[in-house]
Amino acid sequence: MKPVRSGGCGAAGAHLHGMQGARGSNPLTSTRKTEACPFGQAFSFSLYNPTGGVIRMRFALDLDFEEWRTLCREEWGEAPFRADQICGWIYARRVFAFEGMTNLSLDLRRKAAETFGEIVPREVKREISRKDGTEKSLWSLHDGQSVESVLLLQDGRRTACISTQVGCPLGCTFCATGQSGFVRNLSCGEIVGQFLAMEKQQETSIDNLVFMGMGEPFLNMGAFLKAVENLKHPKMRNLGARRMTVSTAGIVPGILALAEANPGIRLAVSIHAAEDELRDRLMPVNRRYPLSELFAAIRTYQEKTGDRVSIEYMLMEGVNDSRSQAMILADRLKGLKSYVNLISWNATCDSFRKPSRERVEQFRQVLVSRGIEAEVRRERGEDIAAACGQLRKREGRI
Ligand code: SAH
Ligand code: SF4
Repeated sequence: MKPVRSGGCGAAGAHLHGMQGARGSNPLTSTRKTEACPFGQAFSFSLYNPTGGVIRMRFALDLDFEEWRTLCREEWGEAPFRADQICGWIYARRVFAFEGMTNLSLDLRRKAAETFGEIVPREVKREISRKDGTEKSLWSLHDGQSVESVLLLQDGRRTACISTQVGCPLGCTFCATGQSGFVRNLSCGEIVGQFLAMEKQQETSIDNLVFMGMGEPFLNMGAFLKAVENLKHPKMRNLGARRMTVSTAGIVPGILALAEANPGIRLAVSIHAAEDELRDRLMPVNRRYPLSELFAAIRTYQEKTGDRVSIEYMLMEGVNDSRSQAMILADRLKGLKSYVNLISWNATCDSFRKPSRERVEQFRQVLVSRGIEAEVRRERGEDIAAACGQLRKREGRI
């Protein structure tokens, strides 16, 4: 077996400690503070302004429906049904400026515009794949940080792949995001904002959403779950739960918390190695949550939700693509309702190599012969670095 350098692509190393901390060098981000606020978490916060004073910002997409009703009634002295109207404009009609909400009084439009900053993130760059039409957008956030999202087109279906963190603290050795370091979590509104802005850009609704962009969703559980609830809410985006999939690198408490909350979305788990020794080196998170604990959590999840779980297995030549590794994976999956998606590693550095098609097919055959459902997924957007694992954090403010 080819040796795997523990530093991986960029040798940024793993940050298993201090996962929640903001570590940006930018003075605005590093002093970011969430204020206690009657309208919910992360709904409002102050930024230290080096030129003096405090900039107060609130973000419309950070509110859930009840928070909108409370805001209308208690802060603006308006009837609570105004919340239905405002959410209808934003989520269903994709109107992102309060001036355009023509069934609200001019006074209410003015109050709302004064209360909130920009509703969706600003797109600063878009690239479109010549090969398969995949689109990658770079969004600028209010503090100058940025994230990427991808729109995948396949068989007439559109799927948005969005980010949950700026960078990622888990440092998987094969992943450009992990190797680019971690800055901060996204708020609920910053997560949802990528999706709504993509719909506006496409001038149509996007029916499938995967939380598989930059970051580990289960290290940002509060914002992630709130985003799912807002997207599902019938008075907000009204997106079916079955149209959403979250992927985790194996954060056990997150899998259990999702089982508990049971929002009805689909779960995918990135496995990539069926033995601890190898997985420890590829995915440092495995040292914290080894495979036995991870599979126990997946089984608990399945007992609670009854759902089939997707298993993501990315193949790297000579590292994790042998017949015997396929057999070990099949053993681990015995008795679990699962579906294995096999992907070839997408180039992010020169530490690994893609396996041949034959080798991938051979791996699939071993699984299938042992009664495990498995499919080879064709990668998309590789020519514009938009494929899985190729999104990377940009340095600081853009
Ligand atoms: N952090 C989560 C979700 C984002 S990554 C997770 O790890 O599951 C989305 C998927 O891309 C994961 O399955 C991840 O393992 C995979 N991935 C990362 N780097 C990759 C690469 N270079 N080639 C192919 N897939 C990759
Ligand atoms: Fe983070 Fe997922 Fe990349 Fe691992 S694969 S570094 S968890 S984004």
